[in-house]
Amino acid sequence: WRLPPGEQQLSRTALVMGTLVEIKAFGDDEEQLDSAISKAFAEMTRLEALLSSHQPKSEISRLSNSADEFVASPETIELISLGRKIAERSNGAFDMTLGALKKLWAIESENPQVPSEEQIAVALQGVGPEALQLDGNRVRKKLPGLQVDLGGIAKGYAVDRALALLRAAGITSASVNAGGDIALLGDHDGRPWRIGIQHPRKSGELLAALELSDRAVVSSGDYERFFEQDGIRYHHIFDPRSGQPARLCQSVTVVAADAASADALATAAFVLGPEEGLQLLEQLPDVEGLIIANNGKEWQTSGLPQSQ
Ligand code: FAD
Ligand code: MG
Ligand code: MG
Repeated sequence: WRLPPGEQQLSRTALVMGTLVEIKAFGDDEEQLDSAISKAFAEMTRLEALLSSHQPKSEISRLSNSADEFVASPETIELISLGRKIAERSNGAFDMTLGALKKLWAIESENPQVPSEEQIAVALQGVGPEALQLDGNRVRKKLPGLQVDLGGIAKGYAVDRALALLRAAGITSASVNAGGDIALLGDHDGRPWRIGIQHPRKSGELLAALELSDRAVVSSGDYERFFEQDGIRYHHIFDPRSGQPARLCQSVTVVAADAASADALATAAFVLGPEEGLQLLEQLPDVEGLIIANNGKEWQTSGLPQSQ
């Protein structure tokens, strides 16, 4: 394809939230595109400093370390509030209270390891969606040591905020992609964006392509952050019931109006598995999804906008 005369494309990448983020924007004023992209990256970095459990001074780390009621920023409150709704919708499959369990498995460290059943039981003690509650701008933890982890939703939220800044700068065609958490503004050169979905077992091969405008599309899989021990693959999406990596799916892709919801729903459906996961996605208006079960079988919602 060719850009219309005068039309520029600007694309930049940066490492944010432990992920390579790519922002693309189209328009006729390169300076405007450049300044808007800079603002979008700055916002993502600001949100990382607020929401990261990898940074000891972030608001989320301070919340995790605090025993009392915690007054939080509007962003944290908005995110926990959305996460709680999805926790409820998914019967607790999506759970932001698994921080201690995540640290125990240490999948993002140099030395990941399979913990003992006893260690897992300790990390799961007192956790669950009900252990994290909101009252206005205050967060209440039912367990003083509760470790909050927004790793299943915050990347999507940051992608939404970045896209909102591009829109506010007057840009009408743009994409923000944080390692598979994608938000799209408008069309791409007068046609819907065409987004390839990675095959969970064949690296570099596409499973499908979706045609989307003004949508978010987010994938969760067991193929990006994992380690193997004794021939078994252990990855980073945990079933809150067992404390073990969820075993029913290889990947889940969710299309929704915003990336934060799509992010959380993809993690939730991954835990629930193809049958219950598909049911969850099908029930929600304006949400579509594609689930690859652990046997490689594809399950998809009725309105998935697949390109032929
Ligand atoms: P998703 O499926 O969207 O999320 C999986 C993640 O969600 C897990 O890693 C865990 O954090 C959490 N989770 C697991 N099970 C559940 C469950 N049942 N319910 C709810 N949540 C669950 N990575 C680095 O390597 N270094 C960093 O410095 C770093 N900083 C980050 C800062 C922020 C603010 C965020 C959001 C992420 C950061 N990451 C970092 C990446 C992060 O640790 C996760 O790997 C990433 O968010 C997983 O996203 P995903 O889309 O791959 O998977
Ligand atoms: Mg997610
Ligand atoms: Mg994600």
